[in-house]
Amino acid sequence: MILGLHSRNGAAASVTSNTVIPLEDAQKRILASVPRLPVATVPLAEALGLVTARDLAATEPIPPFANTGVDGYAVRAADTAGATAESPVRLKVVDELPAGKAPTVPVGPGEAIRIMTGAPAPEGADAIVMVEDTATEDDRGVVVIRREAHAGDHIRPAGGDLAVGDAAFPAGSVLGPAHLGVVAGLGQATVDVIRRPRVAVMSTGDELVPPGEPLSIGQIRDSNRPMLMALVAQTGCEPIDFGIGVDDEAVITERLEKAAATCDAMVTSGGVSMGDYDIIKMVLSRIADMNWWQVAIRPAKPLAFGLLGGVPIFGLPGNPVSSHVSFELFARPALLQMMGHSRLFRPVTPAVAAHDMRRRADGKLHLDRVTLRRDGDGRLLAASAGGQASNVLSAMANSDGLTLLPDGPGVSAGETVDVLRLDLPADH
Ligand code: AMP
Ligand code: MG
Repeated sequence: MILGLHSRNGAAASVTSNTVIPLEDAQKRILASVPRLPVATVPLAEALGLVTARDLAATEPIPPFANTGVDGYAVRAADTAGATAESPVRLKVVDELPAGKAPTVPVGPGEAIRIMTGAPAPEGADAIVMVEDTATEDDRGVVVIRREAHAGDHIRPAGGDLAVGDAAFPAGSVLGPAHLGVVAGLGQATVDVIRRPRVAVMSTGDELVPPGEPLSIGQIRDSNRPMLMALVAQTGCEPIDFGIGVDDEAVITERLEKAAATCDAMVTSGGVSMGDYDIIKMVLSRIADMNWWQVAIRPAKPLAFGLLGGVPIFGLPGNPVSSHVSFELFARPALLQMMGHSRLFRPVTPAVAAHDMRRRADGKLHLDRVTLRRDGDGRLLAASAGGQASNVLSAMANSDGLTLLPDGPGVSAGETVDVLRLDLPADH
């Protein structure tokens, strides 16, 4: 169906709309059209959560030299043969090696070197005796060995973790703290990743006022922008604040074009519903290649998705809960795909309905905000997080997930309901 739009300053635009499509179709169509971002070399401090662009192989051995895994004494294992607490062996202590010091003397027969964790194993020694298995006497130059050592005991060989050429982790790995530690361990201060997307966030609506400014009759707070900026950041992207779009065609056009020129994606809220005559809708349909969808879900039915100069635009509905849910279902997987992630969707887990979850058949999937807790038997219980109207953001804030309540009468207390886990990262 073609929906004629007339802006307040008389210009006209027409957009196709009113096509109701299933959730999966909208998700698939979006994922089919968002590009993967190019590779960038970034410092380790900026790489957390990004996806590696290349296989990483060891260019240096880790550890770089054979060293001791314990505090103790470097010995020749043969010298300790038969040593026990009752019949210990005495060795002459010829040196002391803290971590970071290069050995200068070897361990000869009948000798030992006091050594701390991480210090290089000295020449001549083939085992370390833990300090717990030794004793000292008045003569500080002697150590009492109370347990027999075997060749190799407590020595971590050079390259024992990664030898030169070993694969550390493949391209496509999501860099977590341990990955960053491995890269640093290989001597690299930077890592090649899929670039972190810059995502423009803009609110639209003449009624919007930022927090901190007085409200007149008819005005409401712009709660979507801080929320969507945070969702963008939580997804691992860099949010760029494009403010509240003012009711002026030229200004909105310029702002959207600037966002497309300087950012990798855009998220707007408001002005995409059926009844809207907002300028954003008219401008987008003029300058961008847009789809105006009605998705068979509740909340977050209206969705505008398109490309402006190749840059994806997510036109989310204005009601705060709808905005949040729409971001979760459409923008987040797409942004993750742009970042090179292969897991795009949060887990769905079955839970037991803690009370009746009644609904009417309306052709839509219902995504109600629920809390999750375990009962005494370890079963996961889902209960309503509060008011389910699409403006009740406090219930969203208190929730752990969204029900996937299929079209029909709903479920009764004790029956199973699938829950989209907003409390867990993507698993597929
Ligand atoms: P719209 O999608 O523009 O039709 O807006 C739907 C509802 O969401 C209206 O009640 C708007 O006032 C409200 N709304 C739109 N944008 C925001 C925003 N940024 N923050 C809070 N509420 C909003
Ligand atoms: Mg509006």
